[in-house]
Amino acid sequence: TNNTHFDYIILGGGTAGIVVASRLSEDPHITVAVIEAGDFERNNPNVTTITELGVAQKTRVDWQYESAPLIFADNQSLEWSAGKGLGGSSLINGMTYIRPASSQMDLWPSIGLELDWAKLFAFSKKGEHFQPPSASLTALGASYQPFDHDFRGPLKTCISPLMTSGIIHDILNSTFKNLGIPPRHEFDGGELRGFGTQACTQDSVAEVREDAARAYYYPVMDRQNLVIMVNTTATRILWSPENPEGIAIASAAEVSSQNGDVSTIYANREIILSAGAFRSPAILENSGIGNPSVLSQQSIDVKVDLPSVGENFQDQTVLSVSAEITQNFTGFPPFVAHISLHDLFGSNTSSIFNSTLAKIPGYAATIAAQNGGASNASVQQHLLETQLYLLLKSNTPAVEIAPIVLNNLIFPVFWPLQPFSRGSVHINSTNRTKQPLIDPKFFQFDFDGQMAVATTKYARNFLTTAPLSGIVNASTITPSFELVPEDASDEVWLDWIKTKSSFQPNFHHLGTCAMLPKTSGGVVDNDFKVYGTGNVRVVDLSIVPLQVAGHSTSLLYGIAEWASEKIKRDGRNI
Ligand code: FAD
Repeated sequence: TNNTHFDYIILGGGTAGIVVASRLSEDPHITVAVIEAGDFERNNPNVTTITELGVAQKTRVDWQYESAPLIFADNQSLEWSAGKGLGGSSLINGMTYIRPASSQMDLWPSIGLELDWAKLFAFSKKGEHFQPPSASLTALGASYQPFDHDFRGPLKTCISPLMTSGIIHDILNSTFKNLGIPPRHEFDGGELRGFGTQACTQDSVAEVREDAARAYYYPVMDRQNLVIMVNTTATRILWSPENPEGIAIASAAEVSSQNGDVSTIYANREIILSAGAFRSPAILENSGIGNPSVLSQQSIDVKVDLPSVGENFQDQTVLSVSAEITQNFTGFPPFVAHISLHDLFGSNTSSIFNSTLAKIPGYAATIAAQNGGASNASVQQHLLETQLYLLLKSNTPAVEIAPIVLNNLIFPVFWPLQPFSRGSVHINSTNRTKQPLIDPKFFQFDFDGQMAVATTKYARNFLTTAPLSGIVNASTITPSFELVPEDASDEVWLDWIKTKSSFQPNFHHLGTCAMLPKTSGGVVDNDFKVYGTGNVRVVDLSIVPLQVAGHSTSLLYGIAEWASEKIKRDGRNI
């Protein structure tokens, strides 16, 4: 292979980028290069371990970004993890593998996408190799439905073989039942409401994390037509002088080595951005695609005027309560529940719905005023109303709750799934390797605060519900009843959440290169092509236009399989 010219150049060897690289290079006549800022991490024990969660965070495989001050939450800045290395965030994530709700995906066509639940389910299954639980795990409460999984794809999934033993599954199950939440035996088939055990991206035989590189790259690493350049940062796209009918044609990628040497890698066909929801919009902006006022601040010439780049940024806020328990449980806790808006608000649901519906035109006007002309208020109103109506559907999950039990602690972590706040990610330096400004605008709109309060109350109530209450040491519950009394107002709860609870992002950051019609604030079309370009695509979580339930990799592996088919199809027509 010529090491400076390739048919396809993929910028970012992360979760989605590796899938695309692996699929495109199945054709030995096609040459593919992957540019990855991090290193190979195949044998990094912080990555491979399945006994502990979170140990790779805050190490060299984590970009350790910092957010802009949260102006709606005490001006604090949040530490923001994102994976660095071949495998991207799949190297450091929590490994949960839960697909979105079918009701959510089936709304996507109404906002202009081709992708719906049936397609996503099929492409996600194409990638999957589920390893069914052993009889002993089943006895502990592990369950699954065979037709909601596939067994032939490259990505190994399973119920963690190190699943927490003992009676904790039954205690949690009975406690949720007492709150009206039914058992659920499968979370990957599009229905989510209920309590049960989740699948994860682990190899249950080898007992290692199944990251994207382990699934899609190492098994095919001897392919001569696939070149991975690690420790190399993509800084921008370089454009062909030809500009037929005003369409921008990429000719090369500018890359920078660790010691700062800059070089050029040429693309015969396409450049595919897979640098994740923070870096893909930044690379576009550094290449002259974005809002002219953002670009002019860094003296960048406008190649394509596309103000939607970097807008529409969404993530969920992870909240938690905690307590000590009187028994000791070890192992990997694969327990999860999804609850609906009605589970949360009961007979108040319709009044919450109606008051929120009345506020949406105001929210939409605010978003349109801040997004630099990416979309207007009526488009935003439609998107937000779509989100709200969906929440009313009884089978659509509104909140995910993961009751984590480790040793003598229980800390339910939970997040409202559909935030209304809309942030942004934009470059703010002429140094093209510097992180962009990450402004999530958490708690921008009062509905997000209302959901956070209702969910946190629900979770503390869970700790005091039988039979779980029988093993919870009540005096250790956080927040304590002295600090936040039983009858505390929503204002007191929200203050505790914002200033004392150490809430975190869910690291499901998305939306910054949204797949939507251009007038709705889209950056890419249904073929993943960036508007105004002929041969630049984005394939990573940044293209997902709205938050959904579940966890992002199950969605993204399916999206990347779908994108790979489209890119191959277009390649055959060249
Ligand atoms: P990434 O996988 O982040 O890939 C982007 C890649 O591009 C990285 O390798 C990066 O180093 C590289 N890159 C960036 N900029 C450049 C550049 N300029 N040049 C070259 N390379 C560059 N999801 C789940 O499904 N389940 C979970 O349990 C879960 N838990 C999570 C926990 C944490 C701590 C984190 C961070 C995420 C978690 N997620 C989870 C989310 C999920 O892992 C991500 O949404 C998903 O992996 C994102 O994939 P991506 O391809 O969009 O980006």
